[in-house]
Amino acid sequence: MNDSTLDRHARSRLALQQRRGLLRELRQTSREECAAVIDNGTRLLSFTCNDYLGLSHHPEVIAASVAATQRFGAGAGASRLVTGNHPLYRSLEQALIELKGTDDAVVFGSGYLASLGALSTLAAAPDLILLDELCHSCLFAGAALSAAKVLSYRHNDMQHLTSLLGQQRGGHRHCLIVTEGVFSMDGDRAPLPALAETARQHDAWLVTDDAHALGVIGGGRGSGFAHDRPVAVDVQIGTLSKAAGSYGGYVCGSRPVADLLRNRARSLVYSTGLPPGAVAAAIAGLRIIASDPQRVAIPLQHARTFTAALQMPAAQSAIVALPMGTPEGALRASHRLRDQGFLVVAIRPPTVPAGTSRLRVTFSAAHSQAQVLQLAAAVRALDEQGPPAAIATDNGHTDRARSPRADTSP
Ligand SMILES: *Cc1c(COP(=O)(O)O)cnc(C)c1O
Repeated sequence: MNDSTLDRHARSRLALQQRRGLLRELRQTSREECAAVIDNGTRLLSFTCNDYLGLSHHPEVIAASVAATQRFGAGAGASRLVTGNHPLYRSLEQALIELKGTDDAVVFGSGYLASLGALSTLAAAPDLILLDELCHSCLFAGAALSAAKVLSYRHNDMQHLTSLLGQQRGGHRHCLIVTEGVFSMDGDRAPLPALAETARQHDAWLVTDDAHALGVIGGGRGSGFAHDRPVAVDVQIGTLSKAAGSYGGYVCGSRPVADLLRNRARSLVYSTGLPPGAVAAAIAGLRIIASDPQRVAIPLQHARTFTAALQMPAAQSAIVALPMGTPEGALRASHRLRDQGFLVVAIRPPTVPAGTSRLRVTFSAAHSQAQVLQLAAAVRALDEQGPPAAIATDNGHTDRARSPRADTSP
């Protein structure tokens, strides 16, 4: 028995996770087609992945990836600032510039790395970062890296944001207001026009993470394009790993912002460039997003078919959350659906605040309407068997000054 102090430390923390019902395990999943997965040996219909348009399995996307791998190799070999900036990067950034209508774009290794790099580069010690409390872990992590003062405002609560700005803005040099365009675990949208107006009034910069909006909302161009006029978002962060069907992240904005990130964002400068195949696949994915509005419209249509069938408020995105309260209740509901052939994962703390464990259902152009209605019937049957758990009883306190997502507890 060589039970080192390190192993003992790891084991005791895992035991704590287990007691809280929060232990996670990596399940072996092969996605044969977009919506069909083999999960630990069982074939299931998946309503759980973020491949909203089914592009990860699209023949043109796959062909582009294969051709680029053959031409440029399997790996980039170095950081983009050294020798990793293969010629496909320029085309990908050009495609993003055209889709987003910005002056420039910078592609990062992932969405997570893009958020880390952007926030930690754009803000520093005398600055203020105000984040929606439900922002993704990578935004809180990027804010923490920046050494700016970081506060969170209540979810989509303009009054709370305005009051924090009133108290805090004067004492700081620059201010960033950070939100997701579509919230990843709830599926609702941020009030972007109001946020942009508030940012203007308080001389703040608006930053969005559009991971779940690209390819789905605003004709595929993202949450800033879902209103009468494009919303003035200063910095648009996003991922190429969801609707675009590939891998990687991006920041779209002005030329000086992009040049600054290329010079100073450590998650770009000190990390290897993306594999050429991933860049080529993202270019092909974006081309389909820009040219196939019918495909782009399907995920939201499916989500609204589902919410109508369950008499829920109309979905605002391709994500629908079904609240279950406790982690155990969410797991039980997920297992019941699995018994009927559906894969819908349970989402538990720290991904969501304590007391709000849920099933998170995501819809894709790879689903048929009949499959969407089958899932709705199975979810309705969960209720008839008795509620899986009390709905959203808050059994834990969320410290709003810190991220509910950033798992920083010892
Ligand atoms: C998935 C996700 C990310 C991370 O993107 P990756 O490319 O997977 O690293 C960032 N922000 C939000 C809101 C996300 O949902």
